[in-house]
Amino acid sequence: MGKVNKEDIKEIIDKYDKSNITIATLGSHTALHILRGAKQEGFRTAVVCEKGKEVPYERFGVADEFIFVEEYKNIVDEEVQDKLRSMNAIVVPHGSFVAYAGLDNVEDKFNVPMFGNRDVLRWEAERDKERKMLLESGIRMPMKYENPEDIDKAVMVKFPGARGGQGYFICSSYDEFNEKIDEMKSRGWLTDEDVANAHIEEYVCGTNYCIHYFYSALKDEVEVLGMDSRYETNIDGIVRIPAQEQMEANLSPSYVVSGNHPVVIRESLLPQVFKNGDQLVEKAKELVAPGMNGPFCLQCLVNDDREIVVFEMSARIDGGTNTFMNGSAYSYIQFGEPMSMGRRISREIKNAIKEDKLDVITT
Ligand code: AMP
Repeated sequence: MGKVNKEDIKEIIDKYDKSNITIATLGSHTALHILRGAKQEGFRTAVVCEKGKEVPYERFGVADEFIFVEEYKNIVDEEVQDKLRSMNAIVVPHGSFVAYAGLDNVEDKFNVPMFGNRDVLRWEAERDKERKMLLESGIRMPMKYENPEDIDKAVMVKFPGARGGQGYFICSSYDEFNEKIDEMKSRGWLTDEDVANAHIEEYVCGTNYCIHYFYSALKDEVEVLGMDSRYETNIDGIVRIPAQEQMEANLSPSYVVSGNHPVVIRESLLPQVFKNGDQLVEKAKELVAPGMNGPFCLQCLVNDDREIVVFEMSARIDGGTNTFMNGSAYSYIQFGEPMSMGRRISREIKNAIKEDKLDVITT
């Protein structure tokens, strides 16, 4: 199947009634502040929901229209696309939208204008592409081990499809690697294929900052809008157990995100924070034009040497932006008014309409 044609999307946008644009998204992830922010900027809003999942959007009064689907993946059905286009909808993609709709469907058959660059989503989804983009941007990442035999210090072992930290493990030698793999295989948690595709990287001992950037293609400027730190099961549970009981409990850590704390970073690290964002934006323009339009997130660990080490990126709005639905310390400094990431997206769309440049920020 062919890719969604950029010219077709441009044509759809050209035909939209610009005085009656609807901001739409899937009812999950960051939909609350995407929709709330759209209303703050004066747009109509629509949410695509499975029956029963509409409660928060109804109760918080953020959606003007509800489009019900049997299952979330049905957002790509022709009938739903028709409804969205008839509302002059611009869809804001988030992590759950991409996961439920499926990246191939988003690329190949979702003929509704989306905010940002839909082609960049694959660069987040594929570990090798993500690594290439980050490293070529000059960003420090955890060192990657090509062979388990080379393990010479603490490493984190990650498996495909296990993003979100379930089943990751830490080990410090080849023997320990084999022991843990054997144990996980005996429990039926891993296949030989998983093991062959294991990703092994340096374990970075440090503190976690997920930095939420917004790249305005209209202003050609990178903004830092907020930061969060992850609250993860069961690693954050394990550290609440005293050392002796920890040893006896023999629990393996997992890193499944269950919540987020807002956080600010040491001010002297901010030049590096901006540098990383600027460099990534420039590299993304080269690798996947027009680049990283709109929100993106760098998930970092700051080590003892005060290095910012990036272990993951989101090339769209990240779930941690839920920590600043009413603005963060940084968005307040930048805007002097409550500015969530959702609102920032709609502000960009509003500015693009004024400047007749909607095609610059949609695909
Ligand atoms: P990920 O699935 O890559 O987002 O990782 C899940 C969690 O594992 C992160 O939120 C971190 O707490 C932790 N983590 C990931 N990579 C590393 C690393 N290289 N060193 C230490 N911790 C890591």
